[in-house]
Amino acid sequence: MLNLITVRATIPTGNMMAKYFGTNGIRGTMETVGTELALQAAQAIGSYFKCGKILVARDHRLTGEALRNAVVAGLQSVGCDVIDIGIATSPTAEFMLKKLGGDGLIIITASHNPPEYNGLKVIDGKGVSISKERGGEIEKLFGKAKPAAHGAIKPAKEYRGSAREHMDAMMALLHPEKFAKRKPFIILDIGNGTAATIAPQLFKELGCKILSINSHMDGHFPGRPSEPREENIQDLIRMVKETKADAGIAWDGDGDRVVFVDEKGNFVVGDKVYALSVLLKLKEGKGDVLTTVATSKAVEDVASKFGCKTIYTKVGAPYMSEEMAKGKAAIAGEEVGGVIYPELSLAKDGIFTAAKIVEAICGKPLSKWMEEIPAYYNVKARVECGEKGKKSILDGINRHAKQKGYKIMDIDGIRLTFDDSWVIVRASGTEPYVRIFGEAKSKGKAEALVKEYEKLAKGFL
Ligand code: MG
Repeated sequence: MLNLITVRATIPTGNMMAKYFGTNGIRGTMETVGTELALQAAQAIGSYFKCGKILVARDHRLTGEALRNAVVAGLQSVGCDVIDIGIATSPTAEFMLKKLGGDGLIIITASHNPPEYNGLKVIDGKGVSISKERGGEIEKLFGKAKPAAHGAIKPAKEYRGSAREHMDAMMALLHPEKFAKRKPFIILDIGNGTAATIAPQLFKELGCKILSINSHMDGHFPGRPSEPREENIQDLIRMVKETKADAGIAWDGDGDRVVFVDEKGNFVVGDKVYALSVLLKLKEGKGDVLTTVATSKAVEDVASKFGCKTIYTKVGAPYMSEEMAKGKAAIAGEEVGGVIYPELSLAKDGIFTAAKIVEAICGKPLSKWMEEIPAYYNVKARVECGEKGKKSILDGINRHAKQKGYKIMDIDGIRLTFDDSWVIVRASGTEPYVRIFGEAKSKGKAEALVKEYEKLAKGFL
């Protein structure tokens, strides 16, 4: 009998109840996502992917090897062909799925979470991340996977050198001559994560002058918390100023998220990194732009400037990759940083995102580029409301917006768009409150907007 503890609050997803799968796979501490759950999940995932060829990768977390062993054993036990690419960034693993082909990929990682966490990101053979809803389908197979017949259990194959292959693919999409000519001086804050396997080498080969901090992989994350928020990268900001570097770059633990510090020491938050990435992409050629409903309007403003359409999805990397798989959009990204370049994979590639921006810095300083991105101020709030209150608030806001004739987007919460501001009211998936997020051209306007909707939300309880 397995002692499985729920990692996340149970989230109703239509008729499906995902117990273990959250926003992007399964995540928790070793007490909740241990080797037993990993083995059972891998058997179910293997069955879901028709017991085909499955790639396995992991980050460097202390629990990674144990979970890797359980995942490989689970996949083997149901007859999968396992290709183990070892320790790699998530973008490298997702690129290798596209390159080697396969029926699925499991990345053992807890992304930006604290050291005691780990988890499984699951990606199908088309490169689409498994959402909560599809995770619910996989969970139906928990404990029901059929063991492979005698003789059908195959040895796992080790595949090495994937960082090199990912680097070569990125370099083919860049203009190395621009780097070689300008030789920008950049500081890399690896955050003791898996970006160590690829970022310093890539920028060195491109001809940049580099200085790396928190540069060794360490599952204790001694340098800084893994999430590259402004308060966590103060050392990097100080070093950029002191050394007069052209930029600072910081990644999360598995290298899919990235943020920047400009040459003046200003923090460039994730959605501004994305807005600039969109600008650079559309300068090369037009195409639709994909983002989530919680991302800055700066992205849509940049796309409109080029006469391009913005497509919105629910919040969460799997929903963006599902939409990207339809092949309509040229680029995708969200507020936490990291951009999807479909040339490489349908997942956020924080390494390539960084390289494209450094390439742009070779032409003019990052602060100058940022002047081309419309400035918005954002304010966040939340209203405690219990599970029942979430529906009352969202229904109430919807009614209110309809009465007023506002422009409503209701794919994930209620987003209302005004002339040069917008606000979104969304229920938290895991906790008993609704989040309110507003953006406007001035701080005062953004504060007033969020205050107005906070008061309105409380009135519907
Ligand atoms: Mg991550």
